[in-house]
Amino acid sequence: MSVYRAEYIWIDGTEPTKKLRSKTKIVPKGEEPPIWAFDGSSTQQATGDRSDCVLQPVHVVLDPIRGGDDKLVLCEVMLVSGEPHPTNTRRACVEASKRYGDFDSWFGIEQEYTFFKGARPLGFPDGGFPAPQGGYYCGVGADEVFGREVVEAHLDDCLKAGLRISGINAEVMPGQWEFQVGPLNAPDIGDQLWLARWLLYRAGEAFGIAATLYPKPVRGDWNGAGAHTNFSTRQMRESYEPILAAIEALKGRHSLHIENYGFGIEERLTGLHETASYKEFTFGVSHRGASVRIPWQVAKDRKGYIEDRRPNANMDPYVVSRLIMETVCGAATAGSKPRQMAAATA
Ligand code: ADP
Ligand code: MN
Ligand code: MN
Ligand code: MN
Repeated sequence: MSVYRAEYIWIDGTEPTKKLRSKTKIVPKGEEPPIWAFDGSSTQQATGDRSDCVLQPVHVVLDPIRGGDDKLVLCEVMLVSGEPHPTNTRRACVEASKRYGDFDSWFGIEQEYTFFKGARPLGFPDGGFPAPQGGYYCGVGADEVFGREVVEAHLDDCLKAGLRISGINAEVMPGQWEFQVGPLNAPDIGDQLWLARWLLYRAGEAFGIAATLYPKPVRGDWNGAGAHTNFSTRQMRESYEPILAAIEALKGRHSLHIENYGFGIEERLTGLHETASYKEFTFGVSHRGASVRIPWQVAKDRKGYIEDRRPNANMDPYVVSRLIMETVCGAATAGSKPRQMAAATA
């Protein structure tokens, strides 16, 4: 049969943290995946009496699971009027990316996540706790590593789909892992991260293991899960001054960023477990207890990028990348205005 399977993937309206949804459309070979629709009353995106929401394809990759000519089709959710749906955060990200296009912003996101088997994190015995943290980070061996079969299947799928995965590692808490996407411009970074998340959940199905983005999956002396967001503009990649200016701009809008960096951020950003307290903004070279870290190589080269360590694992990369552009590029744009203009608006 000359058709292919297109898996339409979209982001729903679940509060406080949106979820991924998908369904399959059979498309004639040689044709692009068309606009489609779904029942928004089942995804917290519409009421039953006006339930139709529209799926607008925006980012298509090969489907590494089905293979052949089959595709994964990431979509924006639209209203039937043609306007972006209120839950569509990608559109504003696209606009910010255009507005600050001259900066050529790059993002590299470290997505941490935690596997669950039933109600317990993978590697946690039913009635108690595993040995304390210390040996699990980048560990090896059946006593330290839990879920590598899923991690490897996921990495394979991401590479086959052509996603810009830059690495993976086992994390500090057992059953916790990380993959990195980027560096990429926005909204590509968001598209690829959402697709990689979908592939992660999908890979877990075959093993009966659920991947989660809970920011603090286990209370107590166990690391939370974040999504460190590494960021640079063309100017930051060329010299040090713009790096310090970017940090200054982020400092000035700390609470706005914290409010938009993922639900439950106060539970994770305690000031312990390689985090800075959400209550204050700090930065430092090589400092993993700071809100923003300047990697040692960057301090040495006097150019490069910064790491915003604040975002939660469950953050929306369209929101986080948009905010960083608005804050950093917005401040740089305002700062470069001619003096008489600044005076005229004062
Ligand atoms: P960490 O030491 O914090 O664990 P990782 O190696 O996990 O760092 O992740 C670093 C991330 O930084 C990668 O996703 C990489 O793509 C990204 N990155 C590297 N250079 C840049 C840059 N100039 N701008 C933005 N992101 C970058
Ligand atoms: Mn990392
Ligand atoms: Mn990490
Ligand atoms: Mn990091």
